[in-house]
Amino acid sequence: MATNGSGNEAVLSEILLTLKRMQLDHAALSANVESLSSRVETQSALSSLRGGNHRSSIRDSPSLDPMELGKSSSSPPSDSPLKAPSSPTVRRQSTTSRIILTTYPGQSGIDPIPLSWGEADPAKRGPVIVSRQQGTIRRRNAIGAHGGSYSIYNALAVASANLDLEHKPDFTNTEPAANIGPFPSWGSAKKIVAMDPFGHLAPWLYKDLMTRENVDVRPTIAVTKAHMKIPELEESVRAGRLKPDGKICLNEQGELAVTKFAVEPVWYLPGVAERFGIDEASLRRALFEYTGGSYPELITRNDVKVFLPPIGGLTVYCFGDPAKMSDPNVKLALRVHDECNGSDVFGSDICTCRPYLIFGIEEAVKEAQNGGSGVVIYFRKEGRALGEVTKYLVYNARKRGQDKASEYFQRTENIAGVKDMRFQALMPDILHWLGITKIDRMLSMSNMKHDAIVEQGIEIKERIPIPEEMIPEDSRVEIDAKIHAGYFTTGKVLSMDELGAVQGRACKCFPPSAHGLHAKVPDANVLVRGRH
Ligand SMILES: [Zn+2]
Repeated sequence: MATNGSGNEAVLSEILLTLKRMQLDHAALSANVESLSSRVETQSALSSLRGGNHRSSIRDSPSLDPMELGKSSSSPPSDSPLKAPSSPTVRRQSTTSRIILTTYPGQSGIDPIPLSWGEADPAKRGPVIVSRQQGTIRRRNAIGAHGGSYSIYNALAVASANLDLEHKPDFTNTEPAANIGPFPSWGSAKKIVAMDPFGHLAPWLYKDLMTRENVDVRPTIAVTKAHMKIPELEESVRAGRLKPDGKICLNEQGELAVTKFAVEPVWYLPGVAERFGIDEASLRRALFEYTGGSYPELITRNDVKVFLPPIGGLTVYCFGDPAKMSDPNVKLALRVHDECNGSDVFGSDICTCRPYLIFGIEEAVKEAQNGGSGVVIYFRKEGRALGEVTKYLVYNARKRGQDKASEYFQRTENIAGVKDMRFQALMPDILHWLGITKIDRMLSMSNMKHDAIVEQGIEIKERIPIPEEMIPEDSRVEIDAKIHAGYFTTGKVLSMDELGAVQGRACKCFPPSAHGLHAKVPDANVLVRGRH
């Protein structure tokens, strides 16, 4: 949308240039790795002669080099048990294989299993395949790795020989604990672009293919049922706001029955680009460059359209019968909540996050008890997706300044360069997946969330702000600044002058700012000795 022909050409020629450079780099790297490998092999031979068992449980990763492919072995996976990280001795990470820096379309041996995003029939759509197991690596039709942000721990487990790359998951009894869909949205390449609509059924839908072609297909969604206990909801029962019904609110302790859906991100790149109004090439290039060149296939494999990014996913908490979420004839109360570890888990009072989350859960439960449906969706987008380090820097800047509501967003922007990186454009995918076509009571004041949902054709009938009495005193700065910036309220929108008068708690426990820190030697010593 926001592109033109000449811009596209420039990007394309830039990509071609990068590609050529990478081919040269690949050749140089291969040569380096080969010389390194031969040295490692000698070491290994020596150590086994001495009786040391340094054989790693990791299989050789097969070479995708056109010259090597014909010769690559297809021996069955090792059945050696997992090794505990018992000794600090350096283990070998792999034996003879070359590092596969990247692959190219049409490269000999590259044979992706067809994946047709937006097909309603899962057999025609095809599975998302990203595994690097021996039988699968040539058949990959997606870039990245399973597990979202945890893919890095997976790599660490492989590197440290705690995980056999050829491990085959045993999915016995892991099927979804509740049925969902299929909905028409599952067959739309435009409505769902940030998750796999068949992700909860993948190993069962594609069982034949897995057996027949020995490919590794994994779920990206899991569905379970649980009970949950939150102190505030026990208080709600005591205060008479919430009444136990034995089904949703189980007892006087406010114990809740819930169905939970965990979802890992799976991005269909053309669809993601379209949501942001950019072209696919620009998106691919930015994802490649600003992750330190982590995923070269974003550049070299234009034929592969799906990317599993290393970011956090989301969890759906559904109260009442999950089938009612998509029922247009009953009321739906819904909160979309973005992670705030400090408040959600640890009760920090600088923001309204936990109180709003609790309010959302309570209202969701009440709606379900009234015969409707209640849903809370929790996104791992800590600190407006800027992360906790940036968030705490902003807190310090606010607390050491005057912490005025009028300067709230400016402080974030000064440090991070943006006010917010949550970009709600991809958020409504989960609503489409759940079959939600309208929201009766939206338990959120965020205009960004509201607009993203409405833009996706999902009607929001009523917006419910957090009740005044649930707002902690020190979080007035945050909530008043947000309301001034356009957050929904049924109350008063403060003027800029009035915002200047809204101030957070001055915290005497704060050490002086950086200048003072250097001037005050005792404080610096405390920091250095790490006693604080
Ligand atoms: Zn918060």
